[in-house]
Amino acid sequence: MQRYVKNWNLLDTAIYYIEIFAAKIKQHLHEEAEPAVEEIIDAETQYLQEEIIHYRAHQRPGWIVDQQGTYCCPECRKGIASELIDDYKIKYCPECGKRIVKHQPLTLGKEETA
Ligand SMILES: [Zn+2]
Repeated sequence: MQRYVKNWNLLDTAIYYIEIFAAKIKQHLHEEAEPAVEEIIDAETQYLQEEIIHYRAHQRPGWIVDQQGTYCCPECRKGIASELIDDYKIKYCPECGKRIVKHQPLTLGKEETA
């Protein structure tokens, strides 16, 4: 019986130490988790900033290329029907979505140029 109790005590002690060990690992993981989360947020922020720069660059208007009455996009170089530009005054390339403006004399200043 004595031995049995002693073994139980040993097991109990072992469990106790395992619990402490687990708690330490948990604490360690928790401490580690903080910078990891920050890293994720930093990476995510950087990704979003790059995306914003990309979209801003995309939204900077480009002059519509005028080739003797036929137009093409300054970005993707795909042809754009003249009716779309002359009649509908589209502001974005139907192919790639690039913001486009038609070059106009300054005296007509009403048209958005920037
Ligand atoms: Zn385009």
